[in-house]
Amino acid sequence: MSFFYICTINLKKQKNMSESREELIKRLKEIANEEIKVEDNGISAMCYCPAIPPTLTFKCKECNKEMKDTMYESNYKWMHKTIKEIRNLGYDAKIRVLCEECLIKEIESGEYICNIDDFKNRKPLFCFYFRTNKNEKYHLAESNNSSDYDIVLKFLKDKRKWEEFDRTVLLKDRIYTIERMTGLKLSE
Ligand SMILES: [Zn+2]
Repeated sequence: MSFFYICTINLKKQKNMSESREELIKRLKEIANEEIKVEDNGISAMCYCPAIPPTLTFKCKECNKEMKDTMYESNYKWMHKTIKEIRNLGYDAKIRVLCEECLIKEIESGEYICNIDDFKNRKPLFCFYFRTNKNEKYHLAESNNSSDYDIVLKFLKDKRKWEEFDRTVLLKDRIYTIERMTGLKLSE
Protein backbone atom coordinates (compact mmCIF):
# COMPACT_ATOMS: atom_id res chain seq x y z
CA MET A 1 0.00 0.00 0.00
CA SER A 2 1.53 3.28 -1.01
CA PHE A 3 1.91 6.24 1.28
CA PHE A 4 -0.32 8.28 -1.01
CA TYR A 5 -3.06 5.68 -0.75
CA ILE A 6 -2.93 5.71 3.03
CA CYS A 7 -3.14 9.50 3.03
CA THR A 8 -6.20 9.38 0.82
CA ILE A 9 -7.91 6.94 3.17
CA ASN A 10 -7.15 9.17 6.15
CA LEU A 11 -8.53 12.19 4.35
CA LYS A 12 -11.71 10.32 3.52
CA LYS A 13 -12.06 9.21 7.09
CA GLN A 14 -11.76 12.78 8.25
CA LYS A 15 -14.35 14.01 5.77
CA ASN A 16 -16.83 11.42 7.00
CA MET A 17 -16.42 12.32 10.63
CA SER A 18 -19.23 14.86 10.73
CA GLU A 19 -22.74 13.76 11.59
CA SER A 20 -26.10 15.01 10.38
CA ARG A 21 -28.31 17.33 12.38
CA GLU A 22 -30.66 14.40 13.13
CA GLU A 23 -27.79 12.25 14.40
CA LEU A 24 -26.53 15.06 16.62
CA ILE A 25 -29.98 15.69 18.11
CA LYS A 26 -30.29 11.98 18.78
CA ARG A 27 -26.97 12.10 20.62
CA LEU A 28 -28.04 15.18 22.58
CA LYS A 29 -31.09 13.28 23.84
CA GLU A 30 -28.96 10.27 24.68
CA ILE A 31 -26.60 12.49 26.73
CA ALA A 32 -29.51 14.17 28.53
CA ASN A 33 -30.86 10.77 29.61
CA GLU A 34 -27.49 9.36 30.53
CA GLU A 35 -27.27 7.74 33.96
CA ILE A 36 -23.88 9.12 34.81
CA LYS A 37 -22.74 10.59 38.07
CA VAL A 38 -19.43 11.80 39.35
CA GLU A 39 -18.01 11.10 42.75
CA ASP A 40 -18.55 13.98 45.12
CA ASN A 41 -15.88 16.43 44.10
CA GLY A 42 -15.87 17.99 47.54
CA ILE A 43 -15.09 21.64 47.91
CA SER A 44 -12.85 22.50 45.08
CA ALA A 45 -9.97 24.75 45.80
CA MET A 46 -10.44 27.38 43.15
CA CYS A 47 -8.14 29.93 44.65
CA TYR A 48 -7.11 31.72 41.51
CA CYS A 49 -7.66 35.44 41.55
CA PRO A 50 -9.19 36.56 38.29
CA ALA A 51 -7.31 39.61 37.09
CA ILE A 52 -9.16 42.22 35.06
CA PRO A 53 -8.69 41.39 31.39
CA PRO A 54 -7.23 44.05 29.09
CA THR A 55 -9.35 46.15 26.72
CA LEU A 56 -9.02 44.99 23.14
CA THR A 57 -10.22 46.71 20.00
CA PHE A 58 -12.23 44.75 17.43
CA LYS A 59 -13.47 45.77 14.01
CA CYS A 60 -16.87 44.90 12.61
CA LYS A 61 -16.32 42.44 9.79
CA GLU A 62 -18.89 44.21 7.62
CA CYS A 63 -18.54 47.97 8.18
CA ASN A 64 -15.12 48.20 9.91
CA LYS A 65 -16.54 50.08 12.88
CA GLU A 66 -14.19 49.85 15.84
CA MET A 67 -15.48 48.46 19.14
CA LYS A 68 -13.83 47.70 22.45
CA ASP A 69 -14.24 44.75 24.74
CA THR A 70 -12.42 43.55 27.83
CA MET A 71 -11.00 40.17 27.01
CA TYR A 72 -7.81 38.18 27.19
CA GLU A 73 -6.20 37.78 23.81
CA SER A 74 -5.57 34.13 24.64
CA ASN A 75 -9.35 33.65 25.04
CA TYR A 76 -9.96 35.13 21.57
CA LYS A 77 -7.24 32.98 20.00
CA TRP A 78 -8.64 29.90 21.74
CA MET A 79 -12.09 30.59 20.26
CA HIS A 80 -10.56 30.62 16.76
CA LYS A 81 -8.51 27.50 17.42
CA THR A 82 -11.62 25.64 18.61
CA ILE A 83 -13.64 26.67 15.55
CA LYS A 84 -10.84 25.42 13.32
CA GLU A 85 -11.08 22.05 15.08
CA ILE A 86 -14.86 22.02 14.61
CA ARG A 87 -14.30 22.63 10.88
CA ASN A 88 -11.69 19.87 10.76
CA LEU A 89 -14.38 17.47 11.97
CA GLY A 90 -16.35 18.32 8.83
CA TYR A 91 -18.84 20.87 10.16
CA ASP A 92 -19.44 24.28 8.67
CA ALA A 93 -18.56 26.77 11.41
CA LYS A 94 -17.07 30.23 11.63
CA ILE A 95 -16.84 33.23 13.88
CA ARG A 96 -17.33 36.85 12.84
CA VAL A 97 -17.22 39.99 14.93
CA LEU A 98 -20.12 42.27 14.05
CA CYS A 99 -21.60 45.51 15.30
CA GLU A 100 -25.26 45.57 16.28
CA GLU A 101 -26.41 47.30 13.07
CA CYS A 102 -24.70 44.78 10.81
CA LEU A 103 -25.99 41.87 12.86
CA ILE A 104 -29.56 43.14 12.49
CA LYS A 105 -29.05 43.30 8.70
CA GLU A 106 -27.79 39.70 8.72
CA ILE A 107 -30.82 38.55 10.71
CA GLU A 108 -33.27 40.49 8.55
CA SER A 109 -31.88 38.78 5.45
CA GLY A 110 -33.65 35.64 6.68
CA GLU A 111 -30.59 33.54 5.87
CA TYR A 112 -29.97 32.57 9.48
CA ILE A 113 -31.68 30.90 12.41
CA CYS A 114 -31.11 32.59 15.74
CA ASN A 115 -32.57 33.67 19.02
CA ILE A 116 -32.45 37.46 19.04
CA ASP A 117 -32.36 37.58 22.87
CA ASP A 118 -28.96 35.99 22.65
CA PHE A 119 -27.49 39.17 21.19
CA LYS A 120 -28.80 41.78 23.60
CA ASN A 121 -26.62 44.20 25.55
CA ARG A 122 -23.40 43.12 23.97
CA LYS A 123 -20.98 44.91 21.72
CA PRO A 124 -18.92 43.92 19.87
CA LEU A 125 -20.86 40.79 18.96
CA PHE A 126 -18.88 37.58 18.59
CA CYS A 127 -21.14 35.67 16.22
CA PHE A 128 -20.77 31.93 15.98
CA TYR A 129 -22.14 30.42 12.76
CA PHE A 130 -22.82 26.69 12.76
CA ARG A 131 -24.45 24.16 10.46
CA THR A 132 -23.88 20.47 9.87
CA ASN A 133 -23.88 20.87 6.08
CA LYS A 134 -24.17 23.46 3.36
CA ASN A 135 -27.83 22.70 2.61
CA GLU A 136 -28.90 24.01 6.01
CA LYS A 137 -29.27 27.59 7.17
CA TYR A 138 -26.56 28.73 9.55
CA HIS A 139 -27.51 28.89 13.20
CA LEU A 140 -26.21 32.08 14.75
CA ALA A 141 -25.23 32.43 18.42
CA GLU A 142 -23.19 34.94 20.35
CA SER A 143 -20.41 34.29 22.81
CA ASN A 144 -17.09 35.85 23.78
CA ASN A 145 -16.34 32.96 26.10
CA SER A 146 -13.95 30.33 24.75
CA SER A 147 -15.40 27.68 27.06
CA ASP A 148 -18.76 27.85 25.21
CA TYR A 149 -16.96 26.96 21.97
CA ASP A 150 -15.01 24.26 23.76
CA ILE A 151 -18.25 22.63 24.96
CA VAL A 152 -19.55 22.52 21.36
CA LEU A 153 -16.31 20.85 20.26
CA LYS A 154 -16.51 18.31 23.09
CA PHE A 155 -20.09 17.49 22.12
CA LEU A 156 -19.15 17.01 18.46
CA LYS A 157 -16.26 14.78 19.52
CA ASP A 158 -18.62 12.93 21.88
CA LYS A 159 -16.44 13.62 24.89
CA ARG A 160 -18.86 13.12 27.76
CA LYS A 161 -16.71 14.06 30.75
CA TRP A 162 -13.46 15.81 31.43
CA GLU A 163 -11.33 17.33 34.18
CA GLU A 164 -11.43 21.05 34.86
CA PHE A 165 -9.78 22.75 37.86
CA ASP A 166 -9.39 19.31 39.51
CA ARG A 167 -13.09 18.57 39.11
CA THR A 168 -14.90 16.20 36.81
CA VAL A 169 -17.31 18.00 34.50
CA LEU A 170 -20.14 16.18 32.71
CA LEU A 171 -21.24 17.14 29.22
CA LYS A 172 -24.75 16.30 30.43
CA ASP A 173 -24.61 19.41 32.62
CA ARG A 174 -23.76 21.61 29.65
CA ILE A 175 -26.73 20.80 27.41
CA TYR A 176 -28.12 24.32 27.63
CA THR A 177 -24.86 25.69 26.18
CA ILE A 178 -24.89 23.14 23.34
CA GLU A 179 -28.49 24.03 22.48
CA ARG A 180 -27.84 27.76 22.64
CA MET A 181 -24.64 27.63 20.58
CA THR A 182 -25.70 25.16 17.87
CA GLY A 183 -29.49 25.44 17.65
CA LEU A 184 -29.73 21.65 18.09
CA LYS A 185 -32.63 21.20 20.49
CA LEU A 186 -33.65 18.41 22.81
CA SER A 187 -37.27 19.32 22.07
CA GLU A 188 -36.91 18.58 18.34
ZN1 LIG B 1 -20.93 46.84 11.33
